[in-house]
Amino acid sequence: MTPPEPPTVPRRPSTSLRPWLRRIGAGLGAVVAIGAALVIWAGLGSPSKLPRVELAVPPQRASAWEDVFARGQRVRLCTLETGEVSGARSMLLRSDHVEFDRAREHEPLPIYAHLVRHPTRGDVLIDAGLSAPFERDPFGDVRAPVSWLHRAMGTRFTLPAGRSLGAQLARLGSRPRQVYLTHVHGDHTAGLGELPRDVEIVTGEGEADDLAGHLGYGHFAEGATLSELSFARGAPMPPFDMAIDVWGDGALWALPTPGHSRGHLSFVVNAESGPVLLVGDASHYAWAFERGIGPRGPSASDEAAGQQSLDRLRELVRAHPSLRVVYGHEAPQVICEISTTP
Ligand SMILES: [Zn+2]
Ligand SMILES: [Zn+2]
Repeated sequence: MTPPEPPTVPRRPSTSLRPWLRRIGAGLGAVVAIGAALVIWAGLGSPSKLPRVELAVPPQRASAWEDVFARGQRVRLCTLETGEVSGARSMLLRSDHVEFDRAREHEPLPIYAHLVRHPTRGDVLIDAGLSAPFERDPFGDVRAPVSWLHRAMGTRFTLPAGRSLGAQLARLGSRPRQVYLTHVHGDHTAGLGELPRDVEIVTGEGEADDLAGHLGYGHFAEGATLSELSFARGAPMPPFDMAIDVWGDGALWALPTPGHSRGHLSFVVNAESGPVLLVGDASHYAWAFERGIGPRGPSASDEAAGQQSLDRLRELVRAHPSLRVVYGHEAPQVICEISTTP
C-alpha cells in the first residue's frame, strides 16, 4: 500500500525583491568580513594591539635644569647610525609651512639608535634603528600596507652590511634590558626584533594609539607588553609642564614632546662629559630646529602640539647653551663614549 501523500503546504508567493535582498545582504556581509580581515591583517605586529602597563618611576622632585646640568652623571652615550632613509625632506615639516631647505631637499637622512650605558642600571637604548632585512630590501621587513605607502611616497631605506642595530650591539658586547622609543615610526622600531626577547619596551603614554600605532610596521612581537611613561608622575621642569627623571639620579630625563606623533618623547642624557638632548623627530634636522619649524603630524591639531613641543625644546636650549642637541635625522652627529664590553 502506498502511503498517503503528505498534505502540501501552500507556499507564499515569493516576490521578485527577496532574492535580491538576500544577495545584497550576503554581499554586504562579505564586504564587512573582508574589511575586518584587512584591518586585522594590516594591524599585525602593531603596538596598538599589545597590552600596556605603566612604567614604574621613582618619586620625582622638581629642580632647576642648571642644577641638573651642573651635576653630570656617570652615564655614557653612543649614537649608532643604522642606515639612511631618502625622500623629500620638506615632507617632514609642518604641512602649512612653505619654506624648506632647497639645497638639501633630497639628501638622505641618517637613522639612529642611541645606546646609554649606566654604571648600575646597565645598557638601555633610545630607539631601535634599522635591522638586517634592510640590507637586502629597501623596505626591509616593513609590512604592507605601510610598505606600499612608503613606495608610493618614494621613501626608501638603505643599510650597509654590518650596520644593523643587532650587528652594532654585538660588536659593543651590549645586551640592552630596556628600549625607550621616541615614537613608533618604523625607522625607530625596526631593530626591536634584534633585541633580547625579554627587553622592556617603553613608549610615551598614548603613543600606541597614534595612527602609526594602528597601521603597524610589523615590528612588535606578539606577546610583548608596552610600558608607558606617564607624565602625571613627573615634576614641573620649565619650560616643560612635566618631565621625568627616569632613574631618580638625574642621569636620564624624559620630556613630553607630542605632535609628530601622539606620545612622542625626547630625552636628556645628563653625562659627565656634558648634557645631550635627543630630540627625536620632534625636530628631524638642524635647519628646521634653527628656524623653529615644527614637524609634520597626523592632523592639524597634532601639528600645533608639535610646534609647541619644538618651541619648548628651543627655549630649553636657548637657556642652557651647554646642552648639545642631537636631531632625529641629522648628519654627522655620531657621539660615542662606549667602545668596550661593560
Ligand atoms: Zn617619525
Ligand atoms: Zn624618524
